[in-house]
Amino acid sequence: MNTRKLIVTARALRELGFDEVYITGEKHKEPVKEEKEDKAALLSKLYQQMEKERKCILYEGASGYVFGEGDPNSLVVFVGEAPGEEEDKLKRPFVGRAGQYLNSKLEQVGLKREKVYITNVVKSRPPGNRAPTKEEMSSCLLYLRKEIEIINPKLLVCLGATAMKGILGKEYPITKSRGQTFPYPYNPKIKVFLTYHPAYVLRNPSADKEFTEDLKKVVQLISQA
Ligand code: URA
Repeated sequence: MNTRKLIVTARALRELGFDEVYITGEKHKEPVKEEKEDKAALLSKLYQQMEKERKCILYEGASGYVFGEGDPNSLVVFVGEAPGEEEDKLKRPFVGRAGQYLNSKLEQVGLKREKVYITNVVKSRPPGNRAPTKEEMSSCLLYLRKEIEIINPKLLVCLGATAMKGILGKEYPITKSRGQTFPYPYNPKIKVFLTYHPAYVLRNPSADKEFTEDLKKVVQLISQA
């Protein structure tokens, strides 16, 4: 079996719950886990590069960048707008109220937070939690695109219209476009899906039903992938 086929087979087995795969009859019975290590290492290099280059606008008063976190081999990446106060303090995405709500909704549809990847378009907290400007978003897009290229998921879930604008480069009215998929311009094999931002749902509890429906659709989309 060639290396590519071996990696594809190992990946399929890992998705079935096998953490380590040994090949009987081979001289070296090494576990096949190179892809997992590669992606984590590449992401860590990317984050070091971001710190060094400082091209992504780092807001005055913010305590630094908040990078993405989760399983780099996930089939799905959730993309938010920008870190808030709690995220800035803990240097982790979606750990405040909106994050806790998102975690509970993920659980409700059978997804574990640590098994998906979560990141933001903008990587540091805008002053007073205001929405990031177009220039601020474009200064960070280079890194977001690289993050996506490394993870190479099947699905990108934009949490809110700002994330969608960052990913697709234009405005999408959330009421019309939520629950739909669009091709990711930099790799049409990846689908982009739009839903509400969890903070919006917290402010508008009547949107909870649609948000739940959207997350169920996310599960369906990744299980078809
Ligand atoms: N809102 C976001 O868009 N991202 C976070 O990380 C937290 C809240």
